[in-house]
Amino acid sequence: MKELKILYLYPDILELYGDFGNIQVLRYRLEQRGFKAIITPYSIGDLAPNFNDYDLVFAGGGADQEQSILAKDLIQYKDNIQQAVDDGVFFLLICGAYQLFGKYYKGVEGNIIPGLEIFPYYTEAINDRKKRCIGNIVIETTLNNIKTKVIGFENHGGQTFDVNTPFGDVLFGNGNKFGDSKEGFFLNNVIATYLHGPLLSKNPELADYIIKYCLDRKYNENITLSALDDSFESCVREQLLDRFLKKL
Ligand code: GLN
Repeated sequence: MKELKILYLYPDILELYGDFGNIQVLRYRLEQRGFKAIITPYSIGDLAPNFNDYDLVFAGGGADQEQSILAKDLIQYKDNIQQAVDDGVFFLLICGAYQLFGKYYKGVEGNIIPGLEIFPYYTEAINDRKKRCIGNIVIETTLNNIKTKVIGFENHGGQTFDVNTPFGDVLFGNGNKFGDSKEGFFLNNVIATYLHGPLLSKNPELADYIIKYCLDRKYNENITLSALDDSFESCVREQLLDRFLKKL
């Protein structure tokens, strides 16, 4: 039976607005097609993981406090993570985790949380706690040369700068900073985004894009994923897109 090994980083610390739902969706969509999902949680104090042993690494969002707690632990794996990124292991990083893969995160009080510096962007919060990018968001990205709308929910004070390869164009909501036209970071095997939601339940095409990428890479094949009944998801998506995009 074909399988995917998923490393789930800091599930006890990074979990906002249903981020765990992404893991559930991956498991569901794999199992429905007869694949196995092996999900390994890692958090502070656990045995060091070898990132290259996994097909997919997932990390969710967290508030500044949580980010400062785990940054030191995460940074000890910098070289190993860089190697896995270079080797093509897929990384899906949400919000707080997105920020931690950049150069640094500067909090509301001006405190600096060091990042992994795997990617060249950096994030700074506006020094006013009340000023946050909060709300529903719709972006347009390109997956396998097909334009796809991605729906989510954002809640971040951090404003991310110097993103050369964004995840998508903002159609509704803020994105990398207040009123930005771009959202997230997307480079080959890495998607880092502010979209909670949970992201993958609202966007089954994105979930399948990631699953196919991981299976193709692992088994060196061009796998065709069997269609699942996404009629409920499609109906919800239609309604949400109608609601958010018609406001424009
Ligand atoms: N602490 C970060 C911010 O407010 C991340 C929040 C989040 O993960 N939703 O910018």
